[in-house]
Amino acid sequence: MTVQRTDFIMNTPVEQTVCGPDADAIAAQAVDLMRRLECILSFFLPGSDVWNLNEAAGHGAVPLQPETVEVLREALHYSRLSGSAFDVTAAPLTDLWRRCGKQQKVPDGDEIRRLQALVGYQHLEVGDDTACLSSEGCAVDLGGIAKGLAADACVQLYRAEGVESAFVNLGGNVKAIGGKTPSEPWSVGLQHPGLPRGASFASLAVVDESVVTSGSYERFATVDGHRYHHIIDPRTGWPSDSGLQSVTVICESSMKADALSTAAFVLGLDDGLTLVCEQGTDAVFLTDDGDVYITPGVRSRFQLAPDCGFQCYVGA
Ligand code: AMP
Ligand code: MG
Repeated sequence: MTVQRTDFIMNTPVEQTVCGPDADAIAAQAVDLMRRLECILSFFLPGSDVWNLNEAAGHGAVPLQPETVEVLREALHYSRLSGSAFDVTAAPLTDLWRRCGKQQKVPDGDEIRRLQALVGYQHLEVGDDTACLSSEGCAVDLGGIAKGLAADACVQLYRAEGVESAFVNLGGNVKAIGGKTPSEPWSVGLQHPGLPRGASFASLAVVDESVVTSGSYERFATVDGHRYHHIIDPRTGWPSDSGLQSVTVICESSMKADALSTAAFVLGLDDGLTLVCEQGTDAVFLTDDGDVYITPGVRSRFQLAPDCGFQCYVGA
C-alpha cells in the first residue's frame, strides 16, 4: 500500500509518501512527531523551548528537551563553520524584517545596526540539558535548520517501522528512504523561481538522501516594488544579496543540508561552493543571472528542464 498525505506543519505544507502495509498509521505517527517538534522548536509558540530560551535571555539557563539541545548544538556548529553566514542567533534581525515586511515597510537603519550587536553565536551557550543567551534582546531562530531535523526524525521513524520506500517534503526540505521502487529512484524537482509552485527548472534522481533548497522566492515582502526576502545576512543586517536565487544541498543528513543551504545562500557562489565541497556534500546553485552551477557528484543524476532558459556549468 502507498499512502500520500499533506498536512500544514512548521508554517509549511508537509507532503508524505509512505509505502508498506501500515503506511497509513506510520504517516499519522510522523505527523504527531512533527507537530511535537514544532511545539518545542517554534519561535512563535508561547511556551516552546525556543520561546522560553528567548524570554530568559540575559537571565540564565533554561531546561530544554533533548531534541532542542541537539538542534541547538548542530546550529552552533554550522554558525561557527560558516563564519555566521548561517547564525542561529539571527532572530533579532529575522524578526525585525518579518514584522516590517508584514507592515510593508523597510526597517530603520539605526534599528538594524542596534540589533546587529545582539546577533552572534557567541551569545549562545548550550549545556547538557539547558541553554543560555548572554544578554537581554538576544534570541534564537531555528527556522533555517528545524525542518531538516524534522525530516531526519520522520525518516528515523519510518525506518524503525520497517518502511523501505518513503518520501517526506517539508516545503522544499526533502528526505527519501530507498527509491520510488526498488529499481527507480525518487525524482525531486527544483523549484523554478519565476514560475508557479511545483514548476521545476531541473530534476534530481535521489535514493536514500536528503535534498534541501533555500531560495529567495520562498518568502518575501514587496515594498515600493522591491522584493525583500526572508534570508538575512547577519553580517550586513539586510536580506542576503549574494547574487543567488537558490541553493540546493544534497547529502544524507537533512539537518546538515538545511543549515548548509541557508549558509551557502548567504555566502554566494564562490564561498558557498567552497563550503559545501569542504563538507563533502553535493549542491546546485542558481544565480540571479540564470546560471546553474552543479558539483561534479550531481552531474550523472541531474537533468535541466530543456525550456527553463538557464545555462548549466559544473563547478568546483
Ligand atoms: P531556509 O529556508 O532554511 O534557508 O531558512 C530561512 C529561515 O531561517 C528564515 O525564515 C529565518 O527564520 C531563518 N534565517 C534567516 N536568515 C538566517 C541566517 N542567516 N541564519 C540562520 N537562520 C536564518
Ligand atoms: Mg535552511
